[in-house]
Amino acid sequence: MKIIPVPAFEDNYIWLICDGRYAAVVDPGDAEPVLGHLSRHGLRLAAILITHHHGDHTGGIEALLRHAAVPVYGPRKENIPGITNPVGTGDTVRLPELGVEFAVLDVPGHTAGHIAYYGANSLFCGDTLFTCGCGKLFEGTPAQMHASLQKFAALPDDTQVYCAHEYTLENIRFAKKVEPANRQLLEREVRDLQTRERSRPTLPSTLALEKATNPFLRCEHPAVIEAASHFSGSPLDDAVKVFTAVREWRNRF
Ligand code: ZN
Ligand code: FE
Repeated sequence: MKIIPVPAFEDNYIWLICDGRYAAVVDPGDAEPVLGHLSRHGLRLAAILITHHHGDHTGGIEALLRHAAVPVYGPRKENIPGITNPVGTGDTVRLPELGVEFAVLDVPGHTAGHIAYYGANSLFCGDTLFTCGCGKLFEGTPAQMHASLQKFAALPDDTQVYCAHEYTLENIRFAKKVEPANRQLLEREVRDLQTRERSRPTLPSTLALEKATNPFLRCEHPAVIEAASHFSGSPLDDAVKVFTAVREWRNRF
């Protein structure tokens, strides 16, 4: 099984999970690049997986369904046209054509019903966790988003992280404001700068790397607590308060 990024719009990645014959697609904001890839590689569409309702993740559903009537999995708590299999925490998405299954996690914060898919050592997290960052809180509270990110942090360190956008360098620039002395963060920047110079995706990442460099997963680390406290002008004594301050800082960055 291979997982391939199909770039779309400015900085979206539509992820194709494929085995040489079949492909499932995660968050197809646009059908055209997906259909192009399928036909070039002789792949048959097996399923569509959706993380949340935003157009850059759902815009291609209708055209893909005209091409092939496949099951469409998506968040139970959001109203998205085309979804045939609404799912949430506790559900499993089985893709027999690809011999893979995914556990569904409710991860509210970016949107109220946002879900993620975890299986085959891979996490498809939409706009919840980003490489070295996290999604904006359009419909959720900081406490919800923090809890959602903690669900990811509990997964194995070697989990491959497939986010829906290429935001790494911008996020690293902010992360360095929070933790200017984080060695792994500085090393990551060198690597990812080189990757982007060659126009390659910096994704997937791993949870181990995110835990070591992503300020939003590091709200219990002394350096992050100190920086967030400094930003908010008073000592912050719990992880949700630290998360809230770092998110606010990022919004203004
Ligand atoms: Zn979004
Ligand atoms: Fe998005």
